[in-house]
Amino acid sequence: MSRPNGLVISIDGTAGTGKSTVGRAAAQAMGYSFLSTGGLYRALAYTVFAKHVDAADPKAVLETAKSLQFRFERQPDATLKMFVNGEYLGNKLQLDEVAQTASKISTYADSRAVLTEKMRQAGQDGGIIMEGRDIGTVVFPDAEVKIYLDATAEVRADRRVKQLAEQGVQTDYGQILASIKERDLRDSTRKASPLKPAPDAIKIDTSNMNREEVIEAVVKEIKRYAA
Ligand code: C5P
Repeated sequence: MSRPNGLVISIDGTAGTGKSTVGRAAAQAMGYSFLSTGGLYRALAYTVFAKHVDAADPKAVLETAKSLQFRFERQPDATLKMFVNGEYLGNKLQLDEVAQTASKISTYADSRAVLTEKMRQAGQDGGIIMEGRDIGTVVFPDAEVKIYLDATAEVRADRRVKQLAEQGVQTDYGQILASIKERDLRDSTRKASPLKPAPDAIKIDTSNMNREEVIEAVVKEIKRYAA
């Protein structure tokens, strides 16, 4: 399929496999935009929180999802900065409670459909790398290049602890590991768009690779397609 701005590239996989770091770097190398689609689920979770909506009520969450307007602005580092009803939510979306609520409400098929449509609008012209859980399977089953990243839960927890320590946040490894495993289980066993590799995805296990090696492997796959 030919799109005005280039290819659609999906990077799916479990939490903490380096999808965002790698996706952003690859987008920079290609002159593409990069969108982390978990941000839309996190924005919905945050709004549910902020407006005291019952996160256990799929209908109430759906109404909240429908009330969200998204606008994306490309930044010099290739990321698409997301504004939700005109507001940039920034670090508020990084809280672990927000991630956990996002994972819970992302089991609701109707709300997923609303957010999926927003993602398609953001990516339809191509020239984009989208990172998420179901980009290659549901959002863009016709993506030109599909990457699926994985790593053991222990490696991912370790990376997360180090990443947070660099930001001056001390955390408990055991707690982070448990949180990662809980999200993995929920994301991969939910009925609506469970996390799984698309049949035509290129699978890369990043457990024993460093950041640069993963970026190199992903860019190589994209260039192989583009050649
Ligand atoms: O990737 P991130 O940690 O920001 O995603 C937050 C949550 O949003 C995930 O745990 C997952 O449940 C959900 N999500 C999803 N589909 C996507 C992206 C994220 O279900 N495409």
